[in-house]
Amino acid sequence: MNKITYIALLLMFASANVASHETVSGIGKYDDNNVFAKILRGELPANIVFENEHVLAFEDIHPIKPVHVLIIPKGQYRSLVDFSSTASDQEIITIVKSMGKIAKAMGLTENGFSLMTNSGHNGDQTVAHLHFHLLGGEPVNWEKALRDKNQSTKN
Ligand code: AMP
Repeated sequence: MNKITYIALLLMFASANVASHETVSGIGKYDDNNVFAKILRGELPANIVFENEHVLAFEDIHPIKPVHVLIIPKGQYRSLVDFSSTASDQEIITIVKSMGKIAKAMGLTENGFSLMTNSGHNGDQTVAHLHFHLLGGEPVNWEKALRDKNQSTKN
């Protein structure tokens, strides 16, 4: 590999890493170029753990806990505000019911788990498609989990 190719590869790697840290707005027009839209269309692979008419759940690519699953609506919603104000009652009911089923299927009901969503810049949302993080398999210490996440996305 010559020097210029090496530097170009380094720059590509650095910009990909920076892009993964970029936060997105939780409001505004839905952009179907986001990674979860691509997973929903089958353009990107994912380890799917649950699926029904309105919901898809798959493993997070950078897990911060032994169980780290992302639960998303199949409809095009940027964030919780968008979803709660424009989704149908059926979609809302189905995702809540699915959350319980997924927690159970992942073996998290006995020892417990954490379920959360990030919204917009202050919430540190990085993918502009509503998603809930289901975390478990060991105690969820939020402060430590966030530190580990920041560390793992730097590496
Ligand atoms: P957030 O920072 O709350 O927007 O969470 C986005 C999550 O999506 C992060 O935990 C990423 O690790 C995860 N993620 C990004 N790309 C993928 C992907 N292709 N497959 C699975 N998870 C992903």
